[in-house]
Amino acid sequence: MPAKPKKKRAAAKPSRARKEAPKKASVVKKAASTIQPLDLSAFPPESIIQSEKWICLACVLDVFTRHMGLALKTAHLEIKRYTPSLAELYAPAPTRPFFEATDSKDPCPYCGSPVKWHARFRVHRIESGKATDALRRGLVKSLPKSGDQFVVLEEKATGQHAFFEWIDKTSAAINFDDPGWLIQLSRHYLSRKEPKVDWQAHFDATHSIRRSRRLDTGFEVDHGRLFLAPMLFDELLLVQYLASRSQKAGGLTLEGRYTLPELFSRLRNAGYLRAAEIHAHNPSDALEQLLDHLSGGETALKFYHLVDRRELLEKTKAVRLVKPPKPKPKP
Ligand SMILES: [Zn+2]
Repeated sequence: MPAKPKKKRAAAKPSRARKEAPKKASVVKKAASTIQPLDLSAFPPESIIQSEKWICLACVLDVFTRHMGLALKTAHLEIKRYTPSLAELYAPAPTRPFFEATDSKDPCPYCGSPVKWHARFRVHRIESGKATDALRRGLVKSLPKSGDQFVVLEEKATGQHAFFEWIDKTSAAINFDDPGWLIQLSRHYLSRKEPKVDWQAHFDATHSIRRSRRLDTGFEVDHGRLFLAPMLFDELLLVQYLASRSQKAGGLTLEGRYTLPELFSRLRNAGYLRAAEIHAHNPSDALEQLLDHLSGGETALKFYHLVDRRELLEKTKAVRLVKPPKPKPKP
């Protein structure tokens, strides 16, 4: 922790050197990572999306003091109290004072300030639901309260919204050129659908997924094969179709490539459409209803964005007596 160097800036360098760090770069890295990320490993992984947002405190101070005429002390207080809005946290392209950190040692892209002026917000988005509600309440209760080190921002959402974001996130992390992608996607989907089951262990013990002729519900592992009840298996085909639709592997499933009309007749003949109470007569209407069925459609749910402000507080404290750097024009 940067507790020592806070009194006098001049003291910072010798004390760093005393720590026998091999290189300056690794010291910077170390200083930036003293705050351990929250441990959310108890949560079902498919219900969590983690992200981070970097902010340049020198840029914020510059705006507050130079453009808005705030006293430096007031500006520091404002920064300490600051929690980004959801729009700021999830803006597709960050704008000043937010920036994309490609390397933790890079200077600010706007003002050129060094890394000590940069703070990271870690954000954990937790999807509401039976599998997470109690865990989330327990976690939030256990967090330190002083200084608003953690802030929870709530967002109203729907089942459909959550499902599409899940499929986007999962597809983005999958390499569709890897022949194992169907298996990976299947594991992700089953983990989302049945979070209490240790799917990783079952997938580790199996090499293929089959449609069971014996089971009515659930699954079983037999001779290195994962057997799924017919409804579950057919649902998986649909998810595979959806995930691969926008890829080179378009429409690819465990049963090979399907066009939408082919998938439609496959699911109808297998009784899946009837079981899911889908009575549409053409493939595109059926697909729309299938999506509602899979995702819960307009069912209300919530995203809880747990914003970790610890690094902001730490960095603000560390630079509070440091003169803000003069903004440098971009090279
Ligand atoms: Zn900056």
